Amino acid sequence: HVAARASDVWKVYGSGEAQVIALRGVTADFERGRFTAIMGPSGSGKSTLMHCLAGLDAVTRGQVFIGGTQVTGLGDAGLTKLRRDKVGFIFQQFNLLPTLTAQENILLPLSIAGRKADQAWFDTVIETVGLRDRLGHRPSQLSGGQQQRVACARALVARPEVIFADEPTGNLDSRSGAEVLGFLKRSVREYGQTIVMVTHDPVAASYADRVVFLADGQIVSELLDPTPEAVL
Ligand code: ADP
Ligand code: ADP
Repeated sequence: HVAARASDVWKVYGSGEAQVIALRGVTADFERGRFTAIMGPSGSGKSTLMHCLAGLDAVTRGQVFIGGTQVTGLGDAGLTKLRRDKVGFIFQQFNLLPTLTAQENILLPLSIAGRKADQAWFDTVIETVGLRDRLGHRPSQLSGGQQQRVACARALVARPEVIFADEPTGNLDSRSGAEVLGFLKRSVREYGQTIVMVTHDPVAASYADRVVFLADGQIVSELLDPTPEAVL
């Protein structure tokens, strides 16, 4: 079963002399319950691909699917609903709301969607990320690693079709980064979550089941069950 699919996706920014072709016919399947890392040099199109897959950015040509939904062709209302109901995001900068507690941040996407958290699932997520005694804290009272664990819990609690993670360990020390990556991997192994992660870090990529390498807007190679040495 495919959780996300890019089919011959092209993305062109600007026009004339300022034109940039960020994606040149990218085709890739992201199977449900798999953890994929996207790697490649700066400017190779990693963020653009992720934004196109997640419905944050419109493709110039080609098709994107999330679950059974064709993202390309959705209007604004459809895209808003897709992002709300089908995808979760984890960012390098955590992107938590500073005035809300950890628990309120974690539950915010669900309450915006008018959904209630399943209590047993919420408890499982909180235990998994080790935040039980931090639920009443605001982001400023948490370390970077704890804040990113809140962001992971926020993404996971809604059980989205796909979680997109953009350099999730970019602002963390290696120990906190390893904790976050271990949690993401567990959510794939134990709960069947699908994750697509952009990273520069070979160690981070080695937590994935598969690495897709981009160069100049194209997929140039893939690696299954990567080790850090193989990714370098
Ligand atoms: P990466 O994430 O691999 O660093 P990006 O997807 O950010 O690559 O960028 C791919 C190419 O598209 C780069 O040449 C970048 O400058 C260009 N690009 C990205 N976003 C925009 C934009 N909004 N407007 C114009 N060019 C862009
Ligand atoms: P990264 O390498 O992590 O993708 P970038 O600096 O390439 O970071 O891009 C950061 C943001 O700026 C992205 O949202 C991207 O779409 C946008 N961007 C990148 N290049 C350009 C550009 N040439 N013009 C306008 N926006 C850009």
